[in-house]
Amino acid sequence: MPVSGLGPYDDQNIFARILRGEIPCRRAYEDEHALAFHDIAPQAPAHVLVIPKGAYVSFADFSATASEAEIAGFFRAVGRVARELGLEQPGYRLLANTGVHGGQEVPHFHVHLFGGAGLGPMLD
Ligand code: ADP
Repeated sequence: MPVSGLGPYDDQNIFARILRGEIPCRRAYEDEHALAFHDIAPQAPAHVLVIPKGAYVSFADFSATASEAEIAGFFRAVGRVARELGLEQPGYRLLANTGVHGGQEVPHFHVHLFGGAGLGPMLD
């Protein structure tokens, strides 16, 4: 399994605990494939994390091992969250830090959704 240097899935990671309802979150959206909640330390006026319901360490893991239905359902949910938050116009940014070099801190695959202001270039 591609794990990006993060090790096997740890079901005590903070997003697993949020999924199980053990830790509260400010929920933005939920369906059978995904949960979206506001980041606890927002880096933009709108900063939401979208996570799959399955146990995937990283994007590398998810893209290689999730079913077609999970992948399709998850990315449809990401688009729906952005739409429902009113971010489609004038746009938003998606980011999936992956593995050690990607700066991924929480070992449950998540997509950051940033919006609500012009965000400027990604890298200096
Ligand atoms: P990085 O912190 O480098 O962006 P990640 O891509 O793993 O690494 O992002 C983890 C994100 O999870 C961070 O933006 C952090 O603020 C957020 N976060 C951590 N704990 C919580 C929590 N309990 N509720 C909401 N967001 C959280």
